[in-house]
Amino acid sequence: MNPKLRILVTGGAGFIGSNLVRMLISQGHTVLNVDCLTYAGNLNSLAEISNDDNYHFSQVDITDEDAVASAINDFQPTTIMHLAAESHVDRSIDGPRQFIETNVIGTMNCLDASLKYWQRLTDVGLKENFRFLHVSTDEVYGSLGSEGLFTETTPYAPHSPYSASKASSDHLARAWHDTYGLPVLVTNCSNNYGPYQFPEKLIPVVILKCLNGQPIPVYGKGENIRDWLYVEDHCQALIDVALRGQVGETYNIGGNNEQTNLELVTTLCQLLDELSPETNPQNDSGSPRTASGRAVGGEGHASLITFVTDRPGHDLRYAIDASKIARELNWKPQENFQSGFRKTVQWYLENESWWQNILSGEYQLERQGLSSDSAASAR
Ligand code: NAD
Repeated sequence: MNPKLRILVTGGAGFIGSNLVRMLISQGHTVLNVDCLTYAGNLNSLAEISNDDNYHFSQVDITDEDAVASAINDFQPTTIMHLAAESHVDRSIDGPRQFIETNVIGTMNCLDASLKYWQRLTDVGLKENFRFLHVSTDEVYGSLGSEGLFTETTPYAPHSPYSASKASSDHLARAWHDTYGLPVLVTNCSNNYGPYQFPEKLIPVVILKCLNGQPIPVYGKGENIRDWLYVEDHCQALIDVALRGQVGETYNIGGNNEQTNLELVTTLCQLLDELSPETNPQNDSGSPRTASGRAVGGEGHASLITFVTDRPGHDLRYAIDASKIARELNWKPQENFQSGFRKTVQWYLENESWWQNILSGEYQLERQGLSSDSAASAR
C-alpha cells in the first residue's frame, strides 16, 4: 500500500499534467496544481476532479520566483512533480525565448524554491522522504540512425530550441542534486499520446483534420520515427519513479512502439474509417479540398494525407531503451499501439466539446514552425 502524499504538480492543466493529476487524485493523494494557464493549459481537462476535496489549484507562473516559493511554502508538499514547460517544437522554432524563460529559468526557480523549503524542513521523516521529480523528454538525446536505442547514459545532443531548453533544465535538476543534495530524480520519456492533448500535436491534428475533411499534413516523406507511449502509462511511470525511484537517478520511459509518421497517420486513418464512417471523404461528393503539399493517395480518410515541407532540423528517429525502469521499478506499459490509438480516437470522437472549445479560440489547426524556413529563403 503506497503512502498518501501531498504532491505539488507544476503544469497540471496541460496534456500529461491533467492526466497525472486525475490519476494521483484517483489514487488518494492530495494535489496542488500550479499552472499559469498558457494557451496549452486548460482547466476543462480537470472538470471531473475540480470539486474533489483533495484537489487544489493555484495560478502561478513558474518564471515568478516569489510566487513559486509561496506556493511551495504554503502547500508544504511531500513531493514535487515538475511538468510545466513550453512543449511544442514548432512553436520553439518560431519563438525560442519563451522556451528558455519557462523551461530553463522556470525550472531553476522550482529547484531553488524547493531546495530552500527542503533545507528548512524540521520533520526528519518529511525531509528524508521529500522528492523532486523533473519530467523531461527523449528529445534531449538528439537523433538516432536506423539502429540503436537511447539509454540513460546516451550523451545529450539536442537539436531544436525546445529540446535544448529541456536539456538545460535536466542539467540544472542534476546539478541541484549533485551540488546541494536536493533529492532529485529525472525522467526522459518518448512521445506521448492520448486524451486531452492540445490539438497542435501530430495525433490530435490527424484526428481533427480527418473529422473536418481537411488535408492531413505529413512533414517531409513521413519517414521520421517516434516511439509512442499512451499518456496514462507515462503517468504511472512518473508516480512509480517519484515514490520508489533511486534519488539522483535518471529513468528513461518508452512504449517500445516505434512507428514512422506515415505508418502512424495511416493507422489513425484506418481507425477513423471504422469509427467515423460518416466523415470518410470518399463518401462525400462535396467540394474539392485545397492542399498546399503533395497528396499521397489512398483509401478513405487516408486520401487526405498530404506531404508538406519538412520541419527544419527534424530528428530522424527516437527510440527508448526502457529496461532500467522495467528492471528496477517493475514498470511496463499497459497499452499497445492498437489499443492505445483506438482509445484515443474514441476519446476525441466522444469529447467534441473539449476540442471545439479550443478551436473556437486563436488556434485553428494551422501549421507553425516555418519562420526559420522563411528566414533561410530570404537569405
Ligand atoms: P503541455 O504543453 O500540454 O502542458 C504544459 C503545461 O504547462 C500547460 O498547462 C501550461 O499552462 C503550463 N505552463 C507553461 N508555462 C508555464 C509557466 N511559465 N508557469 C506555469 N505553468 C506553465 O505539455 P505536455 O505535453 O503535457 O508536457 C508536460 C511535460 O512533459 C513537459 O515538461 C514536457 O517537456 C514533458 N514531456 C512531454 C512529452 C510529450 O510527448 N508530450 C514527452 C516527454 C516529456
